[in-house]
Amino acid sequence: MSSSINSGERGPFACEVLSQCVHSAARRTRLRTPHGTAETPAFMPVGTAATVKGADPAALRATGSEFVLCNTYHLALRPGAELIHELGGLHKFMGWDGPILTDSGGFQVFSLAQLSKVDDDGVSFRSHIDGSAMRLTPESATQIQLQLGADVIMAFDECLPHDADAGSVRASLQRRTMPWAERCIALHPRDGRALFGIGQGGMHADLRREHMSALRELPFDGFAVGGLSVGESSADFRRILEATTPLMPTDKPRYLMGVGSAAEILDAVALGIDMFDCVLPTRNARNGQALTFNGPLRMRNAAHTSDARVLEDACDCATCARGFSRAYIRHLLMANEILGAMLMTTHNLRFMQRLMQRIRESIAHGDFADFAAATKSAIGSGLDNKDAPDKG
Ligand SMILES: [Zn+2]
Repeated sequence: MSSSINSGERGPFACEVLSQCVHSAARRTRLRTPHGTAETPAFMPVGTAATVKGADPAALRATGSEFVLCNTYHLALRPGAELIHELGGLHKFMGWDGPILTDSGGFQVFSLAQLSKVDDDGVSFRSHIDGSAMRLTPESATQIQLQLGADVIMAFDECLPHDADAGSVRASLQRRTMPWAERCIALHPRDGRALFGIGQGGMHADLRREHMSALRELPFDGFAVGGLSVGESSADFRRILEATTPLMPTDKPRYLMGVGSAAEILDAVALGIDMFDCVLPTRNARNGQALTFNGPLRMRNAAHTSDARVLEDACDCATCARGFSRAYIRHLLMANEILGAMLMTTHNLRFMQRLMQRIRESIAHGDFADFAAATKSAIGSGLDNKDAPDKG
């Protein structure tokens, strides 16, 4: 199991490039934050409501996770950023002393909220929980993330459907996402916490390039690619990522938002992406899908009924290391026992962190391309993205 306990240096946000692959844009970096360091390429588990479902902070730490993502939209609605601020901030509130990244709330406003109505100043919407009227602007989204106490704050952007035409995407970039980025910068206190800008542009490679070229001129601490893995084809995903990544600064972290299948991560790392987040490893764990380097296992299948083996022989997670059998885990899942979800979550998060660890080692040893090809072939199609609707 990873020995990382995040004893790394604390301080103002910084990105140090440790090594660069000679065959691709893949690289290793170390990020310093006010709450310790994180090695990249990194996978950030998603703690939607200030908890990574199925894993308490100690279990989460034991998977080797260093960075956690929390959702501004969900926390602003319930329990409210004011309350979390009064209680000492998000780190204290959720018992996680490592780095935390918060998203801006934009993605959820456009995908979850009811009756969202966007204008050039911000977005008005109704809460998907109780229907109450809310408004988010670049200023309030930034202010909420500052109140939460995130180490990395994301700029507020407009998220359009993946099939939006070039005219609407261009108008959105010019009238909203780009001016909003500047408004987020104006409010950010520059106190050691990082602010990342988000590149948009839909499925239009020229607009993606244009936007990232303009965005990189702004004083952000890191840059993200947004609006991918939102229903587009894998060919479009790759085409847009290939168009965008060469324009992202090399001295700052590069984050691909909402992407977390092993195959996509390996492709994106080769293009120079450092940071990833995704709900799939934890959500699929609760749905009974175990991730392994030999491909996923559907643990509810009858085939596992009397199987005494652990989920994956080579795995050092707390589930496999303690010898819990596939038969027992299947039984727990079939009986809807909470422990089933917990044991599966531990295993899947450790799988993601073993994957990232091996990616970092292969970059350091100069054989990342071979590792990526062998891993993709062994895992097959990777995670099943079609298990459940996106509820975080
Ligand atoms: Zn395991």
